[in-house]
Amino acid sequence: MPHQVIIIGAGPAGYTAGVYAARANMSPVLFEGSTPGGQLMITTDVENYPGFPESVTGPELMVNFRKQAERFGTTIITDVIKRTDFSSRPFKVWDSKDQLHEAHSIIIATGAEASWLGLESEKTLAGRGVSACATCDGFFFRGKTVAVVGGGDTAMEEANFLANMCQKVYVVHRRDTLRASKIMQQRALDNPKIEFCWNSSVHEIEARGNETVTHAILKDTNTGELRDLTIDGIFIAIGHKPNTGIFGGQLKLDENNYIVTEPGSTRTSIDGVFAAGDVQDSIYRQAVTAAGTGCMAAIEAERWLSHHGVETHSVESEIYRLA
Ligand code: NDP
Repeated sequence: MPHQVIIIGAGPAGYTAGVYAARANMSPVLFEGSTPGGQLMITTDVENYPGFPESVTGPELMVNFRKQAERFGTTIITDVIKRTDFSSRPFKVWDSKDQLHEAHSIIIATGAEASWLGLESEKTLAGRGVSACATCDGFFFRGKTVAVVGGGDTAMEEANFLANMCQKVYVVHRRDTLRASKIMQQRALDNPKIEFCWNSSVHEIEARGNETVTHAILKDTNTGELRDLTIDGIFIAIGHKPNTGIFGGQLKLDENNYIVTEPGSTRTSIDGVFAAGDVQDSIYRQAVTAAGTGCMAAIEAERWLSHHGVETHSVESEIYRLA
């Protein structure tokens, strides 16, 4: 028998969808994927999730999200969905052993991943001075000196945000012109606390005699010359990748491969398929907004199922309804 709803992904959006769907008697089945807990598993203190005045660690928060989803009856499967077929109902997904699972509705909450430079030190110093989210971690660098890597809108936005609380912000960019929109560029260029390191790539990030970051070694992209930059933290802002690979060609995606949802809703271009969290949000990317849209997705799936029943028919013609 097909499930009423399958949730793909286990960050704040997926688990919250699980809580709400289970409490609505939808017996949700949630596939956790390869990184249960999502991006918060590599975060140390979370100070901006409401309800935790003394802060909470990312892993602790996600363990509690998971427990809450399970408590109400979400069946959590620690496996990856490798393949999906949304061309007919019930919808079909296949796990890593190629076993088929069917459901009348789907909630996609597969999240997004920050792009990283690929340095080993990014991993070893993650949460100890290396971050990919100024909104999340900037507060820990009040009065300190930080670097932001990248030349796009995210880098400019993060540099400006950090300049409000840090003593000094370096923007490290590999070229001598920015990709960011003119207005965002100008705002950063005009900010006296922001200094640009042009034609520079990050060769290494170091914590010299320290637990946390103390230096970045920059490489001049023209001459290859290395130089030290003394910093307390470094924010990598070179883009994000939504995890939409397994839906390619089936759902409407935007130019950056995020799932397109109807404004004010989690409805995707396929009736009965909903998307929540960072996989459909390139703007806010916060745990609390992801949880909020996870809640919306479960409520919308429940209403959709009660309105449509569990009919089985081809949805081919509906796939590009919004395209
Ligand atoms: P972008 O892809 O626009 O920019 C990424 C930046 O990182 C580029 O400057 C790129 O350099 C640099 N980069 C990429 N890979 C590397 C690497 N390996 N080493 C060093 N530098 C690297 O990503 P954003 O996240 O900035 O923006 C994504 C989208 O979101 C854009 O459409 C943007 O306009 C939008 N956005 C809008 C905002 C707003 O309007 N308020 C805020 C934030 C984002 P190079 O230029 O040399 O390729």
